[in-house]
Amino acid sequence: MNADLHCHSTVSDGWLTPAEVVRRAAANGVTLLALTDHDEVSGLDEAIAAAREVGLTLVPGVEISVSFRGETVHVVGLGVDHRNPVLLAGLAQVRSGRDERAKRIGEALEAAGIRGALEGARRFARNPALVSRAHFARHFVATGLMPDVNTVFRHYLARGKPGYVEHEWAKLDDAVGWIHAAGGVAVIAHPARYRFSDADLDALFDSFAACGGEAVEVVSGAHSEAEAQKFASLARRRGLLASRASDFHGETESSVDLGHCEPLPPDLLPVWSRFA
Ligand code: AMP
Ligand code: MN
Ligand code: MN
Ligand code: MN
Repeated sequence: MNADLHCHSTVSDGWLTPAEVVRRAAANGVTLLALTDHDEVSGLDEAIAAAREVGLTLVPGVEISVSFRGETVHVVGLGVDHRNPVLLAGLAQVRSGRDERAKRIGEALEAAGIRGALEGARRFARNPALVSRAHFARHFVATGLMPDVNTVFRHYLARGKPGYVEHEWAKLDDAVGWIHAAGGVAVIAHPARYRFSDADLDALFDSFAACGGEAVEVVSGAHSEAEAQKFASLARRRGLLASRASDFHGETESSVDLGHCEPLPPDLLPVWSRFA
């Protein structure tokens, strides 16, 4: 079993179409794949059809943007019914704030002397309803202003930088509720990436448990070995299911390719015990 339960396509901020993601995953030996675009499930039908052709199992997923204690937290939903009206309405609500936020990012960058960033970002966004900071970053790189997207985030797009604007995403209990309404399992994505104190992180997992959240990404393309160990302990302590995920966005932007993550520690109960 090679499970990879978090990645992106052109429906959000990935570089490959849903079908291309599935074919690349299959070529890399992935047997169980979840496509989890940001706040959007419209790539799943294409991914499911492609998965049938190449003979891998596609778990319908989504990565929902949540605001918690002033930080953006990502909650992945796995095994969702992507036609469920509660989930669709919730995601539509989250996406509706994105366009207005993109305009504010454009204005903030304009004020910092960067012209045309919004138009540039929109050229990179294959889905007009889903303009992400990643698309702004690609525009910077394409125009030669910065060498790579990581540098753009460090100088312009991370909190405290000129192109960062505050935004209110979904509430944690709403996001988990939509996932559950759609029959899915809720997973805290890449927990080491949040700039939380230990107390905030505890509060996040307490609130997540209180609304019935089931799992945590232990092995993630965004985690070091030490971070994976830290969240393996947390999964044990809190009795959470464990997920394994590349968070692949594209060849030039991801350090870990589809299916190339480390295995989960063998004593943890994998989240795919729910699907496979
Ligand atoms: P958004 O949902 O519009 O706030 O964009 C967040 C996305 O930007 C993430 O899902 C990543 O794909 C990307 N991202 C965030 N931080 C970084 C970073 N430091 N370097 C590269 N990409 C990043
Ligand atoms: Mn992303
Ligand atoms: Mn994420
Ligand atoms: Mn992601």
